[in-house]
Amino acid sequence: MEQLKDSYGRIHDYLRISVTDRCNLRCIYCMGPEGVPHVPHKDILSYEEILQVVKYGAEMGISKIRITGGEPLVRKDLTYLIKEIAQTPGINDLSLTTNGILLPRLAGELKTAGLHRVNVSLDTLEPDAYRKITRDGELKDVLEGIEAARAHGLKPVKINTVLMKNFNDREVLNFLEFSRRHHVQVRFIEYMPIGEHDDEYENNYLSLEFVKKTAHEAGFKLIPIDNPKGAGPAKYFSFANNEGTVGLITSISGHFCEKCNRLRLTADGRLKTCLYWQEEEQARPALDNPAALKALLREIIRRKPKEHLMGDKSQPGAIEHCSMRNMSRTGG
Ligand code: SAM
Ligand code: SF4
Repeated sequence: MEQLKDSYGRIHDYLRISVTDRCNLRCIYCMGPEGVPHVPHKDILSYEEILQVVKYGAEMGISKIRITGGEPLVRKDLTYLIKEIAQTPGINDLSLTTNGILLPRLAGELKTAGLHRVNVSLDTLEPDAYRKITRDGELKDVLEGIEAARAHGLKPVKINTVLMKNFNDREVLNFLEFSRRHHVQVRFIEYMPIGEHDDEYENNYLSLEFVKKTAHEAGFKLIPIDNPKGAGPAKYFSFANNEGTVGLITSISGHFCEKCNRLRLTADGRLKTCLYWQEEEQARPALDNPAALKALLREIIRRKPKEHLMGDKSQPGAIEHCSMRNMSRTGG
């Protein structure tokens, strides 16, 4: 089978699909209080169009798909898309990134449709802080979502926690305890300077060395473990006699670009190879023509930059070429 290999020899087998820019929360590092700019419905890829990219991508070695957004669960009939992707020959790992709010209602049907697993974003375990960071979300809704995912066998459930200075840095130990008590993997992620929220970076960024140091000072021994299935760039550690698992995603302090295997499809139909770089290509004009679509996939992968330049604006091109799309408009 053909492989999507870039000019640095990286094989691309992972497609992240954003199905909507819209969201039922307004996390302050991801979008403004008014939400995202309106995109006319006709400019958003239909499920049939997304499935074309999946089908021809799978013929070129894409085997792993993640559905994301915006909040993917706010898009109508997402279960239909999940079912069709799950049945696409060649796709053997199908996951979803969500804020979890709608999981109590949808986890069962998503599992039946063929979804394998979920990552739930949760930056704080304190109700007031959750309301603040999400601009009015209710912590109990996410916690119920996590339980629903577990109850319906969407395994493993991973919790994505963006570590932020003076916001949730005091909660590291609470998250470790949460992992231990609920048997979920907690993954800390470094804050990234993405899109318009770039200027918040200096105030928010904290290296994940802080997590190791906090755990150590509290007497937790973090023992490196082999990456579990679907681990991606996280480095994993067990603690408390293997009762808890923590993953560290050091997007800035130790980036993993040399192993990057990701291609992205935005809700408005752009193919992107890196969160950071501006470069993107419209998929829609090629969608009716398998040969054209495959040529486009080959070409965009061939042009993939070597690495992101997040956190270092002094590098040549770092300012002119960086994407202004917020995470919600690229698909985090
Ligand atoms: N709505 C879903 C959710 O929140 O999981 C999926 C989309 S959201 C954009 C995907 C992930 O991107 C979330 O885990 C969120 O915390 C993360 N994210 C958004 N902006 C970020 C930033 N500036 N730095 C690091 N992670 C970010
Ligand atoms: Fe919505 Fe996810 Fe962005 Fe929060 S991080 S505003 S939940 S898209």
